[in-house]
Amino acid sequence: MNTYTDDIAVATEWSMKALGLMARHQVVPLPTNYEVWFRYASGQDADLNEEIDNRLKDGKKIDEQVATDLHQRFVSHTSLTDTTLDAGDKLNSEVDKILKLVQSTVGDSTALGSAVREASDGLTNKSSPTDVRRVVEAIVSATVQMENKSKELEKRLHETKGELNTLQTNLTKARNEARTDGLTGVSNRKAFDETLKQEIARATAEKTSLCLVIGDIDHFKAFNDTWGHRTGDQVLRLVASCLKAGVRETDTVARYGGEEFAIIMPGVGTEGAENFANAMREAVQARELVKRSTGETLGRVTMSLGVAMLRAGDSSASLIERSDACLYTAKRSGRNRVVTEAQEVAPKAKAG
Ligand code: GH3
Ligand code: MG
Ligand code: MG
Repeated sequence: MNTYTDDIAVATEWSMKALGLMARHQVVPLPTNYEVWFRYASGQDADLNEEIDNRLKDGKKIDEQVATDLHQRFVSHTSLTDTTLDAGDKLNSEVDKILKLVQSTVGDSTALGSAVREASDGLTNKSSPTDVRRVVEAIVSATVQMENKSKELEKRLHETKGELNTLQTNLTKARNEARTDGLTGVSNRKAFDETLKQEIARATAEKTSLCLVIGDIDHFKAFNDTWGHRTGDQVLRLVASCLKAGVRETDTVARYGGEEFAIIMPGVGTEGAENFANAMREAVQARELVKRSTGETLGRVTMSLGVAMLRAGDSSASLIERSDACLYTAKRSGRNRVVTEAQEVAPKAKAG
């Protein structure tokens, strides 16, 4: 559950503010959009507010696609907190149970010690064989009880280990889901942001190269308009699977936006990334699309890609910006092509 506020007046104020902002920016008041704008109005997530403010400042619209992306990055991932809290609660109660059992077993072993002491105290060198037998029987009985308790504890610990394993599997699953794009199965924008930051830090520390490829499907709006959004979704899955099949294990494929994909390539220089991008461009173009439901042939889609290599002092934003600029040049100069930085700056230098 999101912990916005319990105060009706405050929540109402945020709600009104969210609705007002949505009206002003012509956002359709659908639940997903509303949740994003409610969170914005609450001011509880500085990163979300900065992202929205920057978009508005640049005169960019918060359309459905952007809202979905913001929702995934800033709102829906909070549901992971629920899973974590649930898991934490379960773990707490398990630990409680075990502690009680351990305490009671320790108590029993102390009782066993006392029983043995008491029994042996009762023995003297004048004790009869019957007395000795009684004492031994008492000790054996206390020991058997103790043994049973220990077995019980062992069994419980074993069961708890199983539950802990299940808990860990569930947590790992929840964590993966929170980082995966639901439609295509590749990394989502949130995971991309995190991975890019980490890889830039690593490449900087280890003085290794790093390339970022950003690809965008050409004329995808027209494709959707002709064949429908659902068929468009199938194309997104297909492009994602081409990319996944083409990368090395150390690369990260992410859905960067609606029909845009980004590939983080550690240890790869411009030439390697350019070759990869061209191979992907060809692989996508080679796929003859068929509408699953009717068997109709839909032709092919193409992709434009931009390639930028990490430079000293780069941030995620500056690297993305250069990759994007290359992609933009690829679009402007005819689409279905790959543009690297060398090609991107050359025309500008000539023009200047
Ligand atoms: P360009 O070659 O310049 O990239 O043209 P374009 O039509 O691909 O670009 P534009 O930015 O105008 O349109 C992007 C389209 O991508 C619009 C939108 O319908 C579609 N799109 C974005 N996300 C999804 C999605 O999740 N599913 C489907 N089916 N389409 C999507
Ligand atoms: Mg696009
Ligand atoms: Mg496009």
